[in-house]
Amino acid sequence: MKRTYHGSCHCKAVTYEADLDLDQGTGKCNCTFCWKRRAWSFGHLEPDDFRLLSGEDALVDYGKSGDWGETHNRFCKTCGVATHGYGSIDAMGGAFFAILLPTLDDLPVDELVAAPVTYMDGLHDNWWNPPAETRHL
Ligand SMILES: [Zn+2]
Repeated sequence: MKRTYHGSCHCKAVTYEADLDLDQGTGKCNCTFCWKRRAWSFGHLEPDDFRLLSGEDALVDYGKSGDWGETHNRFCKTCGVATHGYGSIDAMGGAFFAILLPTLDDLPVDELVAAPVTYMDGLHDNWWNPPAETRHL
């Protein structure tokens, strides 16, 4: 069942709320980008499930695009914390919207650790399978 959680960057310039059901599963990936920022994400959001409450002018976009689609990773220009991202990747079924779970301020740790985790071997373009090693993710 979806619940509304509240999130923010570290300096609180960026705040948002999101409706999500953690039983849908969380994601960890070993690709070069996810690993460098230790990303633990929730990517099952519909566009209406995410509402930016403040900080549009504080957000910076780190985006990439190619014949595979496009991604936009948003982070705060002051504190550097990445709060969410969106884009469209054909191989993943089109448009997506995601938040970084550590930016939720009212998610109890016991709920987070009880949520299912899907590991993705993005480092080897093997997104649909877990990598051989997941302990560092
Ligand atoms: Zn900030």
